[in-house]
Amino acid sequence: MKDIELPRKVVTGDGAIDLIPDLADELRLWGESIVISDPTTKEIAGEKVREYLKSTLYLVEGPADEEVEKILAEIKKNSSIKYVAGVGGGKIIDITKVVALKAKLPFLSIPTAASHDGMASPQASIKGKVPTSIKAHCPIGVVADTAIISKAPPRLTAAGCADAISNYTAVLDWKLASKEKGEYYGDYASVLAMLSAEIIIHKAEEIKNNVSILVESLISSGVAIGIAGSSRPCSGSEHSFSHVLDIICPTPALHGEQCGVGTIMMAYLHKAEWELIRDALKKVGAPTTAKEMGIEDKYIVEALVKANSIRDRYTILRGGLTAEEAKKLAKDTGVIE
Ligand SMILES: [Zn+2]
Repeated sequence: MKDIELPRKVVTGDGAIDLIPDLADELRLWGESIVISDPTTKEIAGEKVREYLKSTLYLVEGPADEEVEKILAEIKKNSSIKYVAGVGGGKIIDITKVVALKAKLPFLSIPTAASHDGMASPQASIKGKVPTSIKAHCPIGVVADTAIISKAPPRLTAAGCADAISNYTAVLDWKLASKEKGEYYGDYASVLAMLSAEIIIHKAEEIKNNVSILVESLISSGVAIGIAGSSRPCSGSEHSFSHVLDIICPTPALHGEQCGVGTIMMAYLHKAEWELIRDALKKVGAPTTAKEMGIEDKYIVEALVKANSIRDRYTILRGGLTAEEAKKLAKDTGVIE
């Protein structure tokens, strides 16, 4: 049995946000709604979306897990709320996804930055006391306005490129799990995810002036996840490494940044083109070393050692790495000195 979930409508391009009233009508999103935003993204697009949808604005200011509960309480109080819309970066979109899942409502994803592949995917990660990854639903509609996204801080765009590039090792891990463990493997989802990585690798220099390349790549990644029915095509050992960093580092770097650095090292283990990955990350302006991420070397080694046991996902890490092996890997790839 295959359970494929995809967004019904994706609009992207300069000024896409102005298509929201028509889009909502086409998707039969009638009635009251809540627009979820934060103080920054409210100014960028949240207020405009609220006007277009004639809805109520909810401002996220606290930890994600607590905000989810608060928004759910608001929805419970008003049975005329028929859908929710998230306007913001990764955190806002993920909060919206989880709210939509728990309230059993459809949702619109309106990203103001392209910092990771969550804008169109059914996967959400909520950073609270314990960071958790939740399988939610795809947005019913995605509105990715490239005029807005191109004005996002360059660091976010670079992180989004790195997250797309990380599909490279995620796909290699998936193939390995299929070969060595007989795990389900989907050619179409795999090729689509790999294509997203390759386009960013080969067009690395163009992205600064044309963010739509990245937006399309991240949407395709989300679609690959929807087709596979799991995050497999876009999340392998490099993501496990990043998840551990999120837990153990006092101040972790961005999701995409950590996954990008993880991809360099996991590509090395796969005996794949790790230097090509590293150079592409440099070209998009993403970090390639622990120092550039502002993370101490000891956390890199610890994350490599623990990456294998953080979740039940067979990857190139197989039985896991010893501290010695981890240190050598990080040194050989120039991630630590
Ligand atoms: Zn990711």
